[in-house]
Amino acid sequence: MSQKRQPDGRLKTILLGLDGGDLEIFDLFIGLGLMPNLSALMAGGCRGPLLSTIPPITSPAWTTMTTGLDPGKHGIFSFHRRLDQEMRRVPVNSSDVKQKRIWDYFSEQGKRVCVINVPLTYPPSPVNGLMVSGMLTPGSDVDFTYPESLKTGLNDACGGYQIDTPWHHYRRGRELIAALRANLANRRRAIEYLMAREPFDFTMMVISSTDRLQHAFYGRIAEIGRRGGADSPLDEEICRFYHDLDDLLGHLSRQYRKSHQIFIVSDHGFRPVHTKVNINKWLAQHGCLRSKGAFGGGWLRFLIRRLDRVGAERTARKLLPGKRSGRTVAQAHIDWKNTRAYSGAAGDQAVYLNVAGRDPQGVVPPADYINERDAVEKILRSLFDRSRGEPVLDTVHRREKIYRGPCVDRAPDLVLQCRRGYVITDKRSEARLFNPAGKQTGWHSMEGMFAAAGPGIGPGRRLRSLSLPDILPTLLYSRDLPLLKSFDGAVRTGMFSPAFQQGRRIIQGEGSTERTPEQAVVDEDLIGQRLRSLGYL
Ligand SMILES: [Zn+2]
Repeated sequence: MSQKRQPDGRLKTILLGLDGGDLEIFDLFIGLGLMPNLSALMAGGCRGPLLSTIPPITSPAWTTMTTGLDPGKHGIFSFHRRLDQEMRRVPVNSSDVKQKRIWDYFSEQGKRVCVINVPLTYPPSPVNGLMVSGMLTPGSDVDFTYPESLKTGLNDACGGYQIDTPWHHYRRGRELIAALRANLANRRRAIEYLMAREPFDFTMMVISSTDRLQHAFYGRIAEIGRRGGADSPLDEEICRFYHDLDDLLGHLSRQYRKSHQIFIVSDHGFRPVHTKVNINKWLAQHGCLRSKGAFGGGWLRFLIRRLDRVGAERTARKLLPGKRSGRTVAQAHIDWKNTRAYSGAAGDQAVYLNVAGRDPQGVVPPADYINERDAVEKILRSLFDRSRGEPVLDTVHRREKIYRGPCVDRAPDLVLQCRRGYVITDKRSEARLFNPAGKQTGWHSMEGMFAAAGPGIGPGRRLRSLSLPDILPTLLYSRDLPLLKSFDGAVRTGMFSPAFQQGRRIIQGEGSTERTPEQAVVDEDLIGQRLRSLGYL
């Protein structure tokens, strides 16, 4: 590998995102000999953990990485906005991200960019190059590419571009893994087709099937680790998935490593789940929340639980009020006039206060906010799982302690970090305080991963304490592009060789992190309906 400084314009960048990518899991498959390319890439470059956002949720995490800004500045805290005046929680879309993202900085400098499947990029925005939108795109029949004309060729090249795999819809494990492998193969065809169009200066792509597989099969992966190999046809399919992924990494490495710095990142890691905790139930038991129907009682609850158990969650949802109104199912059942605090869904890991004047049917007087929040915090901290003899929450954060910036007032009032093994739910079908994990055996952890290889990357380095906002300034530095003072991350020069660093300096840029909003017309009701049917929300 050449340590010589490359003239600007010749060196190019690939930022490959693996949703939920986790070094512990990859090391397991490397140990089994199934990921030789990733192993070689990391041995010849650098690797380390990458700290996620609090909470480690896909939407805020990728947005933090791609803006270089704290969620308090970009305003994305979950898959939804806060409750609106109609008591709906509308899913976020790219028009909610008011800040420039990494491809905007490259575009502004005249660099050609290619952006593939990054979460929260629908509707796609104009860039100096191409964009194919990612997670939270409401189906493949909408305009999900920039320019629009790209869609036909992309569909032809891939045999129909697949945005995601609705993993909740699959009842059988092997069928789901086959679908995830098909999605990965489809994504690979898209990447090869798009990258072959021209030598882009900056390419970012995200593989989402890693996250879906690990949600569903974390338990099996752990078992493969314990046994030191596959023990069933299902396990063998899981191993094949990681081998396929490695094959894609090998292709990218062979094709681009001489001319490109390749950075591999994830938005969060993974950990096991044994229990889903219905925080609303706990709040109700302590008089903070009133439900319109009894938690867990009645024939409807019984039926829904049965349907849920056989995987017919979509049917179960249809039985519940609130679906058509765009409310989340659980929130349609809250008696707001008698509710001072309520929990969001798994995609929030948070509790909201119901404040008069701020929330549509608020009851907590603003003057009581601090006292009320302290009281709710105390109630949450007392949540204890007697059957396991342990507290459920590691930490309860007040929002102003973890976020900085003008959007902090949009954040949930309290953000929860569960102990390993627990995850929060607000599903009516998981109405007991403690519910079994069911088919979701893995959930997000704070520790994502980072690896890099290519010209100028110091070989054999192990880096510690990287966090998501560091990625954007580090990549701009590596390409001699200017950085803005308001970025929250730092340039991590430790990953580059001394020769690469020599003569390279941090260039302070002028200007704002805010992007010029496009006039995209977004049918939010349609997006919400579609995303629910895909099982996202
Ligand atoms: Zn994710």
